[in-house]
Amino acid sequence: MPFRIGLGYDIHRLVVGRKLVLAGETISYPRGLLGHSDGDVVLHALCDALLGACAMGDIGMLYPDTAPETSGMDSLVMLREVMEKVSSGYRLVNADINCICEKPKLSAFRDRMVANIARACMIDASRISVKFRTHEGLGDIGSGDAIAAQAVVLLEDARPQGVA
Ligand code: MG
Repeated sequence: MPFRIGLGYDIHRLVVGRKLVLAGETISYPRGLLGHSDGDVVLHALCDALLGACAMGDIGMLYPDTAPETSGMDSLVMLREVMEKVSSGYRLVNADINCICEKPKLSAFRDRMVANIARACMIDASRISVKFRTHEGLGDIGSGDAIAAQAVVLLEDARPQGVA
C-alpha cells in the first residue's frame, strides 16, 4: 500500500504563569499551557500523528519529559526533527488538525499557525488544515482549564519497493 495514516492527540492544562503557545504562535492570554516543553498541544498532536503513521513510536519516546535538554523546548524544533525522521521514507500528503479550546478565540491566528506548520514540514500551506472548536462548556476544556488537539496525517510511502 502506498499510503499510511497517522492519528495524534494531546491535552495540556492551562495555568497562570506560562506563555500560551499554539502551533508555534505565542498568543497573548493570562494563562498558558503547563508542560515540560513549551506545551504546544497542536504540534504535539501533529508530531504523534506523523510518528504513528510511520510506526516510529511516539513523542514521549523521542522527547521524554524527564530530559533536561527538552525543558522549555520550542515544539517547532520537535516538529522539524520529527519531519526529518519521517522524510527518510515518507512524504507528507496532508494534515488536518482540530484544536479544542474554549478560550481564547483562535481563528485570527489560523493563517499564521498553518504557515508555521507548513514551513516546519517543508510543504505548501494548502496541505495543512487547522480547525478550532469549543467544548460547549463541558468538562475541563469547557471550563477553560485545558486545551486539547487532535491530528490526522496522510503520508505517501516513498521507501524503495520491497521494503514494505
Ligand atoms: Mg504534549
